[in-house]
Amino acid sequence: MNAPHSPALRVVIVGGGFTGAALAWQLARMRLPLRLTVVEPRAELGRGLAYSATDPAHRINVPAHRMSLDPENRTDFAEWLAENPDALDARARTGNGDVFPQRALFGRYMAERLAPHLRSGALRHVRARVSDIQRDGEDSLLLMLSDDSRIHADLLVLATGHPAPALPRVLSAIANAPGLIADPNDAARLAQVPAEARVLILGAALSAADVVTTLERQGHRGPIACLSRHGLRSRGHGPVGQDSDADFADPPIRSASELLRRVRHAIVDDQARGQGWHATVDRLREQGPAIWQALGDDGRRRLLRHLRTWWDVHRYRLPPQTEAVVERLAASGRLRYLAGHLLAAEEVAAGELRIDWRPRGGSSALSQSFDRVIVTTGPAQDRCIGANPALGALERLGLIAPCPLGLGLAVTDTCVALSAQGRPAEQVLVAGPLARGHVGELIGVPECAAHAREVARRIARHALLAPILRSPGQPVPAVHPS
Ligand SMILES: Cc1cc2nc3c(=O)[nH]c(=O)nc-3n(C[C@H](O)[C@H](O)[C@H](O)COP(=O)(O)OP(=O)(O)OC[C@H]3O[C@@H](n4cnc5c(N)ncnc54)[C@H](O)[C@@H]3O)c2cc1C
Repeated sequence: MNAPHSPALRVVIVGGGFTGAALAWQLARMRLPLRLTVVEPRAELGRGLAYSATDPAHRINVPAHRMSLDPENRTDFAEWLAENPDALDARARTGNGDVFPQRALFGRYMAERLAPHLRSGALRHVRARVSDIQRDGEDSLLLMLSDDSRIHADLLVLATGHPAPALPRVLSAIANAPGLIADPNDAARLAQVPAEARVLILGAALSAADVVTTLERQGHRGPIACLSRHGLRSRGHGPVGQDSDADFADPPIRSASELLRRVRHAIVDDQARGQGWHATVDRLREQGPAIWQALGDDGRRRLLRHLRTWWDVHRYRLPPQTEAVVERLAASGRLRYLAGHLLAAEEVAAGELRIDWRPRGGSSALSQSFDRVIVTTGPAQDRCIGANPALGALERLGLIAPCPLGLGLAVTDTCVALSAQGRPAEQVLVAGPLARGHVGELIGVPECAAHAREVARRIARHALLAPILRSPGQPVPAVHPS
């Protein structure tokens, strides 16, 4: 397929979580003239942060029939489950027939879908971290890896996903205290939380609920408080089969306040038709990219400032099994949701952490003692570059820059990274949540899978055109998955 003297394009994907693996899967099936490598330190491609979960209490948060690697076949995971019926645990199936498997199982599905392409050699997995990047002549880059090896890339795709959570500044005074668990994915630290410990969870969304289910599973009996600015917690799923025909794209919405008005009307209309707000929110999610594009920068900023929490708790829903645990503990009074601001933190005695906070709308501070403080305030999207040496190196080379909204990296409409001066860096593409500032809603599996397909199509055009540009006269081959 290659033109004479035109070596195959070297495509390197940095990060082999769901997005990097979905992109590699798309590319491997296209049989393109390229050498495809994914650099990912984890043992299996496709697991990333979300699906490396080992806790059996941690489940996918949308039903299995809506999670798929393949945007052309939305039931691919459900079909894989049907072929592997023994893989499901006894509690995965809910009363209405929806299936919410353990997150690790989705990771296994991903690894199995990638395996044939690894075996055939269409795709190479290098188990390492990219620790530095330099220019390698005019058109390529040289990647330095944590195992001291090096890789050349003509085209680099950044799929490094979720940055590590950042410690809220107020907690710096207890940063080294043994009672602070700064990363909720630190299963070993969570396993050591004593059964009677008084626990404060900072945050009230899905990761907070995951921590609650972990504690519950390991027999925790002490009080748990979740503190967040609004005190709102993630909602559960609605009845099955609801669809809204609300339209948020036409006519386009130009401001956050207009969006809020139209959403309120749509919820009333949907409720009048016997549907819950879930249908309206699902419709919003579907039209998310169009809404985001129409809003413009000012509208997007306002939306993030005023509506983000509301969106997050309605859009990212609890699996029913998790919701049941949360509801039960909340009803018993052992789990409380608090709205307020953290003011100060101090380690007052060995293992005891004193937290000062002010309830939302209140004027006086409260002081409470806890044995463990667990931070679930989410990935520090606005600090993604500083937290990752690969991204830091690319920023120093003038190839990438943070998104002005603090949501990952600045990119063009075609996922090309933009420099701080707004110049496209044609050899660097961005896939998945790091491109969220431009695309809008880009976190869940369906959105990341569709984004990976877009990036794959762009790479395919590039791979097919590169040799033709070097040797004009050659016919352009067709692109289609095998
Ligand atoms: C806890 C959790 C649960 C979720 N549950 C669901 C769900 O049930 N349903 C749903 O639809 N969505 C869910 N999501 C959202 C969605 O699945 C994720 O947003 C998606 O998996 C993003 O994948 P990613 O590959 O872009 O990022 P990540 O999963 O963050 O993967 C990025 C990968 O990049 C690697 N990496 C980073 N830096 C480097 C480097 N320098 N060199 C090499 N490799 C590097 C990391 O090792 C990591 O594996 C969940 C998200 C989280 C965090």
